[in-house]
Order: sequence, then structure tokens, then C-alpha cells
Amino acid sequence: MNSFEYKQAKDIPEALSLARADGTTTFVAGGTNLLDLWKYNITNPSQLIDINHLTELSEIRLLEDGVLMIGAGVRNAETAYHPIVEQNYPLLSRAILAGASPQIRNMATNGGNLLQRTRCYYFYDHEVPCNKRIPGSGCPAMSGYNRMHAILGTSEHCIAVFPSDMCVALAALDAVVNVTGPEGNRSIAFADFHRLPGDTPHLDNNLKEGELITAIKVPEKGFATNYAYLKLRDRHSYAFALVSVATGLALDGNRILEARIALGGVAHKPWRSLSAEAFLKGREANAENFAGAADLILKEAKGFGHNDFKIKLAKKAIIRNGLMALKPESQLPGAQPSA
Ligand code: SF4
Repeated sequence: MNSFEYKQAKDIPEALSLARADGTTTFVAGGTNLLDLWKYNITNPSQLIDINHLTELSEIRLLEDGVLMIGAGVRNAETAYHPIVEQNYPLLSRAILAGASPQIRNMATNGGNLLQRTRCYYFYDHEVPCNKRIPGSGCPAMSGYNRMHAILGTSEHCIAVFPSDMCVALAALDAVVNVTGPEGNRSIAFADFHRLPGDTPHLDNNLKEGELITAIKVPEKGFATNYAYLKLRDRHSYAFALVSVATGLALDGNRILEARIALGGVAHKPWRSLSAEAFLKGREANAENFAGAADLILKEAKGFGHNDFKIKLAKKAIIRNGLMALKPESQLPGAQPSA
């Protein structure tokens, strides 16, 4: 049994001052992924700082410039059901509610959602090597069972996927992550927060040692009229995405003024394609053009055997979700899927 020290912080300055600089401190809020990682001996902090009582992290509100500020300590469920999120950012609400289970969403926080680690089965199995767990040891998923694994942005060192649904919507909505730490406050564009595996697959994101996520800011444009989130998975609930798609459209009639598309379940980070979005701008919102966007997104896609099917599945999902965004009511609870 490993012993550890537990401390409750009353505010952000205290949380930062309590954190040790040697990498042995972990902040804990909901703890839903942290406890898994701990039980599987992937992480082993010697100091745990409880940040559940930090009121600075617990707010959701619209700022004067129309930007939505979501506290890092707010629970996923509270975020999804918040009236401002439901009305102005239904894409975000739908994506959150597609993730995990009601019990987990009631406990898990927004900051923790960004920081969850891959569910690659080899990552949790100490009987096999894994470059993410032990850098340089190898990647058995490459030639092993890789049905859940990535088709975009992979490296020869890791083909794991990032499991969040919420983050796929945040990527499409062009969110910004606010963090604070020993060197002060900074903001990170959502596209720059999570990392591709490259030759450092042990690093999931660009948070520095001792830094704490304080809030997520979402620009005013929420694509509340034409949006859709589609999650394809092996079970209807409590399963990670094989492929997910977040789509937001601004339309003039049926002509696309602006498009946002981000994919989940296909890469080491939420996958947004600016070239596909540029392709759609000015075109008709129809299956043919969504297929063209899908071809651009998947141009570099590569399967590893068991996950080859994801390339075709992703294309169909992008087309279907684009069409669903034209009739967002078709995805609301109780709505029947169209034929
Ligand atoms: Fe480890 Fe990544 Fe390979 Fe999975 S895909 S075994 S996490 S290196």
C-alpha cells in the first residue's frame, strides 16, 4: 500500500502554494478518472490536494463580451443542464450528455474532463509494454487488438485516442482554456491544449507542472440553430466513441456561411479540420458537400487492422451529422432517427 498526504485547499493561491514542484502532487476534484488511474497503478501521487472547495472554479456565467465562462470545478451534468448552455450552446450540452453515465457526469468536473487519459487497454495492463506508460517500451496496440484506436494524427510510438465527448464540442466551438500556475495565468487555445503523440506519447496535453485549469471560455457564437452531435459506439450508453462528430453550421437559407466540424474517437486529441470547414463555406448544405468535407478530413487517415472500419464509418458519420444539423430537433431525446 502506498501512503499519501491529503490536503484541502480553500482558494487558488493556497492550492498553488501547497503543490510541490517535483511532480508528486495531484489536484483532485471529481476524481472519476484519477481513481481509475490510481487503482491501476498508472499514477501514484504522494500528495493529493482537494480543490472541491475552490469557489473561484464553480461558476458558469456570460461575460460582458458575450463569451461563456465555465468554471473548471463545475460538474459535467450541471454544465449540460445549465439554462445558458442549453439555450446558447446546445451542441456542448448534447456532447456532454453523450459521455459516460449520469452518475459519472454528476461527479466529474469540466477541468477533469479535459485531463482524462486514454482508455487504451494496453495502457492499463502492466504485463505489457506501453510507450505512454513507460516511454520507450513499445506499443503493442500497433500490431495487437486496435479496434478502438486512432486513424488520424498517429505516430509510430502511439495510436491511442482521447476519450472525451465534451472536448469534441469545445474544439468545434473554438473554446479557450484558462490556467493558472507558479508562473502566473495564461490562456491556451483549445486546439493547442491536447497533444498528438509524436515521440512523446506520455504527454497528453500542454499543461505545465503545477498548473491548474481555472475555466473554459466559449466564444459567443454557439451555433444554437443548426448543430448536431453524433456518437457511434458499441453500446447505446456508457461506452466510448468509435467515432463521434460535432457539427455547427451558420446558414443563409441552405447555403453555408460558416461550418465547424470536430471528430472524437479518431485521434489523440479532438480532431478539427480547418480545411474541411473552409471547403464548406459558401456551398450548399447537402450530402454531397458534407462527403467532400469528409474526404478532406480523412485524406490522411490510416487504419491499423481492426480499426480500418473507422475510416468508412467516420465518413458516413460526418455526412449524417451534417444533415442532422439542418434539423437539430431530430436528435433531441425521444426523436426518431430519420431513415
Ligand atoms: Fe500505449 Fe499508446 Fe500503444 Fe496504447 S496506443 S499501447 S497507450 S503507446
